[in-house]
Parts: sequence; structure tokens; C-alpha cells
Amino acid sequence: MSAWRQKLSPEHVSAARTAIAGTALETPLVQSPFLSKLARTDVLLKLEIAQPIGAFKIRGAANAISVLPDACAGVTCCSTGNHGRGVAYAAKARGLRAVVCMSELVPEAKVEGIRALGAEVRIVGSSQDEAAEESRRLVAEDGLAEIPPFDDPLVIAGQGTIGLELLDSRPDLETLLIPLSGGGLAAGIALAAKARKPDIRVIGISMDRGAAMYESLRAGRNVAVEELPSLADSLGGGLGADNRLTLPVCRELIDETILVTEAEIYRAMQCHYYEDRIVCEGGSAVGAAALLADKLPDVRGPMATIITGRNLDMNMHANIMAGRSIRLGDLTLEGKPYHA
Ligand SMILES: *Cc1c(COP(=O)(O)O)cnc(C)c1O
Repeated sequence: MSAWRQKLSPEHVSAARTAIAGTALETPLVQSPFLSKLARTDVLLKLEIAQPIGAFKIRGAANAISVLPDACAGVTCCSTGNHGRGVAYAAKARGLRAVVCMSELVPEAKVEGIRALGAEVRIVGSSQDEAAEESRRLVAEDGLAEIPPFDDPLVIAGQGTIGLELLDSRPDLETLLIPLSGGGLAAGIALAAKARKPDIRVIGISMDRGAAMYESLRAGRNVAVEELPSLADSLGGGLGADNRLTLPVCRELIDETILVTEAEIYRAMQCHYYEDRIVCEGGSAVGAAALLADKLPDVRGPMATIITGRNLDMNMHANIMAGRSIRLGDLTLEGKPYHA
């Protein structure tokens, strides 16, 4: 039996469901008629954008914070944005202090969103790893409890509650298309879903600019990648130098990993908007991007993808919907008006 199974089991996901009820929502699962027609099977969208913080990360954060004593000094985390929002929201709901550390690459809209939720924000360095160091310092010196963004059994179990809800609503699901970064979301969902339905297919999807988990799964070890600006900024960052859980769990439970380009993400964001009437981050559109680009190895349905978050700069969103070109660091992404 794999070592990680001592720390993380499907029972932890069931327990998380009880622990986060009242803080996180059970979100709607809606059909995408356009993508269903394209894939010739039901394609369902799990709307985590309906969460109070506009993203699924409230689930893992609320679960991890639920076990802390009332008398603790507070919590800290490092985050590309949505994890920080989740920690801020869940800490506030429990009346705890929250300090969120993040890198300079994080868009201003996300920083403001976290401040508005009542947390202190600290901007440090130009990589997720540097932000993580500052967070560890706060643990050592101020006695705050660190809530990791993905490599933690309680966080993974919290994200895994999505898997329970998916199969409650649609026991006939055969394929899950999951945006993949640190792998907490994919690990949790795969754990919960495969416990109920061992032959369900779990496909992790990342952007092709700096996909740490994709590279690490192929190399068979934790690979550091360069962080690059991407429409899927929520999927950026490394696995952490001391990754213990998400890499082994993803290695065992994810069936396929796929990369999509910035142009494919751009078109998928337009598609979600014009066809599904959904505003979502680039990181949420990678499932549709893989479908639209015909990158799924074999299309077996019914399938679901997770619309993981909607916390993006709305000027950027408006530009993409208008088909304008976009600057991503030193890369110019050629604009293109949407057509079906
Ligand atoms: C964090 C995040 C992901 C990826 O989750 P991991 O657990 O890091 O793999 C995907 N989409 C959004 C919007 C996120 O915030």
C-alpha cells in the first residue's frame, strides 16, 4: 500500500464534507449544450465560481482551519490568489487573524480581493517559493499556523468534496477534466471519485507555460519549472521543495495529463462566455480548451470539468471577449474575435 494512504483516505473527504458545510457551498453542476454537442456526450460544468470567494479553494482552507483551536494565534499562507482568498474568508468566519504572503506576479485585483476579506497581505519576491519562505518565517516567529495551498491532507480532502458532489449528482460520469497546478484539486477529486467508481477517468490539464506537475509526473520526481505569465495564472508555481503528498497521489490516481496553449485558453474563455454565459479565469477554461483543441486521447462521456474560479482582471476579460491582443509579460498573444 502506498505510504500516502496512511495520511489521506476517502473517509477524510467524507469528514471534510461535514466540516466545511456552512462555510463552503455545494455548487451547481450545469450542462454546456455547446461543448456537449461538440464532444457528442454530456459535458457538465461544476460551478465553483458560485463559492463566496469565487473559487473552490474555500473548501480546502475551511477544512484545514476547522481543526485549529479557537485560542490559536491565527493562520498564514502563500498564494497566487485564490488560496489566499479562501484562507482569508475561512479564517474570518472563525474569527482568526490571517496573513497572506504572495509574489509580485500576482495580479492587483487578486491582492485587493484578499485585503477586502480582512486579511493582511505581504508581497515578497518574484516566485511562489519566496512567498512560501516568508510564510514559514511567520510560523516560526509569530506562531501562526500555515495553511498550505495544496500539499496537505486536510486541504486535499477539502478539495475532494467536489468529487463527492459530482458523483452524487451524476453517478454516470466517466471522465473528469481537472485544472492541474499543485495538484490538491486533482488529488482530492480523484481520491473521492475513484473510491466510489474505480474506473472513472481523471485527466489533469495545465497550461504549456510552466506546468510543474506535468513535468514532474513525466520525470518521476519533483521538477522545478520557470514561472511565466499566463492567462492561467492560477495554475502557476512549483510543487514545493518538500512535496510529500500531491505528487505521489497524482502519480497514482491521475490517468492522463494534457497541456494547452495560451491561444487555446483564450478561445476557451471566449467559448465559456459566449456559449455558456460564464465569466471565468484562464485556469478554469483548460478543460474546455482541451476539448475545443481536440486534445483528449479518447472522448469518453459523460464528462465534467471544474470551473474553478472567476477572480480575474475584468479589463483583461473584456479585451479577450472583444478579440483584442493581450500582453503576457514579453509575449503578445494575438487576439481573435470569437466564432463558434
Ligand atoms: C488553485 C487553482 C487551481 C489548481 O488547483 P491545484 O490544487 O493547485 O492543482 C485551478 N484553478 C483555480 C482557479 C485555482 O485557484
